[in-house]
Amino acid sequence: MTDPAPDWDALFDEAVDTLCQFIRIDTSNPPGRERAACDFLGAILKREGIPYQLFDAGDDRVSLRAVLPGDGSRRPFMLLNHTDVVPVQREYWDDEPFSGHIRDGYIWGRGALDMKGLGVAQLMTFLTLKRLGVPLHRDLVFFAMADEEAGSEFGMRWIERNHPESLEAEYVINEGGGGTTEVFGVERPVFNVAVTEKGPLWLRLVAEGRPGHGSMPHDDNALDRLVRALHKVQSWERPFTVSPVLGEYFTRLARAGIYKGEATVAALTKAAEDDIRVRALLMDTISATTATAGIKHNVIPGRAEATLDCRLLPGVDPDEFQRAVEGVIDDPKVRVERVHVGWSDTNPFDTELFRVIEDVVHDHIEEAVVVPGMTVGFTDSSVLRNRGQLSYGFSGGLTTPEVAKGVHGHNERVSLESFRLNCQMVYEVTRRMCAEG
Ligand SMILES: [Zn+2]
Repeated sequence: MTDPAPDWDALFDEAVDTLCQFIRIDTSNPPGRERAACDFLGAILKREGIPYQLFDAGDDRVSLRAVLPGDGSRRPFMLLNHTDVVPVQREYWDDEPFSGHIRDGYIWGRGALDMKGLGVAQLMTFLTLKRLGVPLHRDLVFFAMADEEAGSEFGMRWIERNHPESLEAEYVINEGGGGTTEVFGVERPVFNVAVTEKGPLWLRLVAEGRPGHGSMPHDDNALDRLVRALHKVQSWERPFTVSPVLGEYFTRLARAGIYKGEATVAALTKAAEDDIRVRALLMDTISATTATAGIKHNVIPGRAEATLDCRLLPGVDPDEFQRAVEGVIDDPKVRVERVHVGWSDTNPFDTELFRVIEDVVHDHIEEAVVVPGMTVGFTDSSVLRNRGQLSYGFSGGLTTPEVAKGVHGHNERVSLESFRLNCQMVYEVTRRMCAEG
């Protein structure tokens, strides 16, 4: 028996309208105040007669969960999104960042890509399956999370500590993957299904020394120490690693003629030397991000600080990496402090969900290439993967590299075409996973 088909034209009009309104709710984090987003989503669910639960972590840090019950013969499927967004620098935008305007074929605004757009595609899937009365063989969970953009302490991590049972699901789809029109300069749609991600390790270097007069240099200047430490860290040679996931990623891209080269460690190592994207995929990276020292032009500072944003490959032990950084700096008067750490297990890609995603992508775009991949940023999926769950980064959106810069950048926007594709693919993946087989 085939399930009734959605009326995509009407549904998409509704999706666009919903996304524009959702963008207008300013959930910049900090402070987040995701209660307003949950009130908005809750009102829609209520209108449809779907009950939902709110999880309140205090200070208006609220997450929302709703369930469409299935017959229970299989474990739940979860559509996971976050309702907060990163702050904007208004002066760099060509339009109001929270306008939700439609202009030149794009929906404009912070969150259009990260990730209110995918959140609305998930919501429309949820509503459509309910409206059409599609019988489900598993519970379908819609989870709109708070505080993803500032470390998840009031969102996913709070939920994990206080309501772990609400996270139960055999499969989860979340942000972190999606389609791009061009990879390595070759124009052909590639859909990345993220099965793992790098782990952030944020370190602070604190150099201590002896203050003094700028006219009398001595060898215990804290700023000199810090500069030497940073120099050693930046000249530290580290190996490239081709994990099985990245091996498969490059093999598939090579087979499609997109990555011009062999997917061997030797060839990729060579490529990584002059391509920052390849390097970020194959090694633990370190970016120096802030530095502060001194109070006056002619005063030698007694203290200097810098922050390092290290991103470690899955499987790398952050304690060991930090000890290695300390060893490289090799100065007892430069302290290495840990500010934040996270890591993610790696999910398999030989799964039913991966195959369904491949089929659905090819049904929509025949020539598209589907690859397993690794997100270089971090998402709430890491928490789930580390609990032993399978959580893929997947979106049906297809974005140009230029538009993708809007994620955490300026002029964030999603094309109507890409958003429609996203709504259709998320629906179809979910329907096949919950109502077929
Ligand atoms: Zn995000």
